[in-house]
Amino acid sequence: MSPRGVVVREDGGTVAARVEELDESLLGHDPVRIRVHYSTLNYKDGMVLGGLGRLVRRYPHVAGVDLAGEVIEDRTGTFAPGTRVVVTGFHVGERHPGGLAQEARVRPEWVVPLPEGLDARRAMAIGTAGLSAMLAIMAVEQRGRSDRTFPLLVTGAAGGVGSIAVAVAARRGWGVAASTGRTDEAPYLRSLGASSIIARAELARDDVRPLESERFGGAIDAVGGSTLATALAQMAHGAAVASVGLAGGDRFCASVMPFLLRGVSIVGIDSTLAPLEDRRAAWAALASDLDPALLAEVTREVGLEDVPALGPEILAGHVRGRIVVDVNR
Ligand code: NAP
Repeated sequence: MSPRGVVVREDGGTVAARVEELDESLLGHDPVRIRVHYSTLNYKDGMVLGGLGRLVRRYPHVAGVDLAGEVIEDRTGTFAPGTRVVVTGFHVGERHPGGLAQEARVRPEWVVPLPEGLDARRAMAIGTAGLSAMLAIMAVEQRGRSDRTFPLLVTGAAGGVGSIAVAVAARRGWGVAASTGRTDEAPYLRSLGASSIIARAELARDDVRPLESERFGGAIDAVGGSTLATALAQMAHGAAVASVGLAGGDRFCASVMPFLLRGVSIVGIDSTLAPLEDRRAAWAALASDLDPALLAEVTREVGLEDVPALGPEILAGHVRGRIVVDVNR
């Protein structure tokens, strides 16, 4: 039987996704064949499923920027059959056929063997969102303050990037200030390790001064826009801000004062083309610093057939935490 997957088709300018059987032309011809066990749903998948952002170059297209499973065959000889692997980024699920399918074909340089302690399901509960959160925490710790006097700000905290950033940062000894538009999720965020909750509107404002009181020792920002500008103005001396996302807007108007008078840094996070050594380090850190019980708490499991309807949900910011997709369900 042919493998099944979520196929996005365009018809007269309208894009729609549904589960179909996949023929060879949809899978592509890259040399590593992977039997996918789990995939996931990220914000970017929501954009692909809705045909937004010109991420997909050619239709019909198999969606899914992340996948985890086992190697069936590798024509380059890099990976032995049966090797358990994870693939995220490198435009898989955008320019290349993706992982929301029972089988995928990828290039060996995109493949990371699963680290000890991570199975395919947990790797996909983490996914690109969690990997980006980890890369962001590592960047803030490397580029920013070495002490923990001030809390770390996490914006969009109840989303996928945010939830995992909160849980991992708390485990690494940060006090975590979680900013959310869903203040009814405060108990959830506190259960992940947040020490304080900040209402979204407190940061998403247009009247920010060039410098405000030093409040945070760093930030993981999944929101962008005026939230990012406010975060910069409230950084303590020497702190680093990781810009990860744009859920609240891709433009921001800010003063250079935090850079000049407080030595604040802003670090861009691009998980799509992050070097393999950074990915391996981030996956290893996630295997040790993300409590499996907390990860289970932020994760909901669905089947392939559920995916098309979830695209608009994630774009609307209605999804809490992470969604894993059992592609064989
Ligand atoms: P997600 O699960 O949908 O989380 C986004 C969160 O942002 C929402 O849960 C919500 O959190 C907040 N939000 C939504 N709309 C907002 C608005 N209009 N104003 C302010 N806050 C808003 O998505 P995700 O997968 O975590 O991704 C988060 C962002 O990171 C996206 O922009 C995504 O494209 C980006 N991203 C970037 C990379 C990279 O490599 N740079 C990798 C992965 C993701 P609250 O309800 O808590 O407020």
